[in-house]
Amino acid sequence: MSNDFQFIQVGRHDPKKHDTPLRKTQFIEIYQDFSEPDVKQQADRCLDCGNPYCEWKCPLHNYIPNWLKLAEEGRVMEAATLMHETNTLPEICGRVCPQDRLCEGACTLNDEFGAVTIGNIEKYITDAALAQGWRPDLSHAPKGRTERVAIIGAGPAGLGCADVLARNGVKAVVYDKYPQIGGLLTYGIPSFKLDKSVLATRRTVLEGMGIEFKLNTTVGKDISFQSLLDEYDAVFLGMGTYTAMKARLANEDAKGVIQALPYLIGNTHQLMGSQDPAAPYIDLAGKNVVVLGGGDTAMDCVRTAVRQGAANVSCVYRRDEANMPGSRREVQNAKEEGVEFLFNQQPVAIHTENDAVVGIECVETQMGAADASGRQSAEVIPGSEQILKADAIIIAFGFQASPAPWFKDFGIDTNEWGLVKACKQDDMAFQTTNPKVFAGGDMVRGSDLVVTAIAEGRDAALGILTYLGEQAAQQKDEVQT
Ligand code: FAD
Ligand code: SF4
Repeated sequence: MSNDFQFIQVGRHDPKKHDTPLRKTQFIEIYQDFSEPDVKQQADRCLDCGNPYCEWKCPLHNYIPNWLKLAEEGRVMEAATLMHETNTLPEICGRVCPQDRLCEGACTLNDEFGAVTIGNIEKYITDAALAQGWRPDLSHAPKGRTERVAIIGAGPAGLGCADVLARNGVKAVVYDKYPQIGGLLTYGIPSFKLDKSVLATRRTVLEGMGIEFKLNTTVGKDISFQSLLDEYDAVFLGMGTYTAMKARLANEDAKGVIQALPYLIGNTHQLMGSQDPAAPYIDLAGKNVVVLGGGDTAMDCVRTAVRQGAANVSCVYRRDEANMPGSRREVQNAKEEGVEFLFNQQPVAIHTENDAVVGIECVETQMGAADASGRQSAEVIPGSEQILKADAIIIAFGFQASPAPWFKDFGIDTNEWGLVKACKQDDMAFQTTNPKVFAGGDMVRGSDLVVTAIAEGRDAALGILTYLGEQAAQQKDEVQT
C-alpha cells in the first residue's frame, strides 16, 4: 500500500557498491543488484507531484511517475512495457545517464530529502523484466508494409531509429563497421559502467522484433552509399563523432602520449578477447598516468588505468570541480578508487627525454567571468608553473565531427563544424539536405549523451515514417494521372 509520507520516513538510497579493492582490479559493474523490497520502498518515495519536472528534464520524456508506481506495486512487466513506449534502451540509460543533471536533478525531492532513485529503478525493472522473458508486443504493428530503411551505425541513435521503425511495421537493416552492436556503448563506455552482456541481451530483443544487423560492414568501403540509396526507401545516418580534439601542446606525438578513445577501445577489445588494429591494447600497469580533461571520457580513462594497475593516476582539469562537464557520480566513483584530482591546472607543455614522456608542465588557473553558457572561464595565474611526473599522458579533450568524405557527393550538407545539417521541424524531423536521408545523434548535435542520441534516432524514425507516407501518396497520384 502506497505511503504519502514515505519520502520523509525513508531516505534516498542506491544499491550498494562493491568494495573498493575489488573495484580497483576488476572490470565489473560497481553497483550490486537492488533488492525487490528496496525498489518498492524507493519507488514509493515518488510524490507523484502532478508537475513531473523529471519527465520534462529527461530527453525522452519518460513516464517516470507512472512506472515508479508500477514498480512500487511489483508490476515489473507492465512497467517495462510502459518504459519501452518512450525508450529503446532503458536498462542502459538507467546505468549511464548523468541522472544528477537530468531526471533526478529535476525531482521535487532533490533538496534535503534526496531525489527519488530513478536511474537505478529503471535499470532494475528492465533487467528483471528481460530476465523474466519480457519482449515487446508487436501484434498491433501495421502488417503488410513493404518499405525498407537502411540505418548506418548500430549506436544508440541507430538502435532508437530501428526500434520505432520496427514498431511501425517498417523493415530496418542496420549496418555497422564493428563486429558488435552498440557503438560507443560497446567500445567506448567501459564495462565497469556497462557490462557488455547487457548489449548482447538487447541484441536478441531487437532481432526478435525483425531488425536485421549487417556488422563488420563499413559503408563507403565494403558497400557503397549509392547501393543503399538504390536498395532502400530511406536511409538513416547515426555514425557518431570520432575526431579526437588535439591538446595543441609541443611533443604531443611523443611515446607515452595516448588518445583517450583508442585507449578505451583497445582495453575493451582485450577484455572481449578481440582486437582492433586501429586501437591496439595499451597496458598502463606500474605507470604514473596523468589524464587531461574533465568529462565522462576522462573519468573512464582514469578508472581504466586504476584497474590496469597504474602506480598513480591523476586527473588534470583547468577549471574547478564545480565547472566539470562530466557526471558528479562518476567523479565521486573515481575519487573512491584512488584517483587524484588536480583542479585549476592548465597543461602547457609535455616534457620528454629520448622522445618519451617524462612529465607534464601545468600552470595554475583561477575562475573568471561566466560565458554565455554560464560556464566560468579559467584565467592563468602567471608564474605558477609546476611539472608533474608522468610516464603516460592520456588526452581526453572530447571529439569533433568526422563527416564521411562521400557526404558531399550525395548532397548531405554539414555546418562549419562538420556536423550534419538536419531539419528540426516535427513534420520531417531530422531530414538532411538530401530528402531521402535522415541523421541524428552525435553526428548532428555534436558529442553528447546516450539518451539524447536515442531521442534523436526515435524522432528521426517519425520523420522517416512521414517521408515514406508522402512518397507512397505521390506514387499513388502518379498511377492515377
Ligand atoms: P555512436 O555511439 O558513436 O555510434 C556510431 C556507430 O556508427 C558506431 O558503431 C560506428 O562503428 C558506426 N559507423 C560510423 N561510420 C560508419 C560507416 N561508415 N559504416 C558503418 N558503420 C559506421 N554518454 C552518456 O550518456 N553516459 C556516459 O556515461 C557516457 N560515457 C561516455 C564515455 C566515452 C568514453 C565516450 C566516448 C562517450 C560517452 N558518452 C556517454 C557519450 C555517448 O556514448 C554518445 O553520445 C553516444 O554513444 C552517441 O550515439 P550515436 O549513436 O550518435 O553514435
Ligand atoms: Fe533519467 Fe535517463 Fe532514464 Fe530519462 S532515460 S529517466 S534522464 S535515467
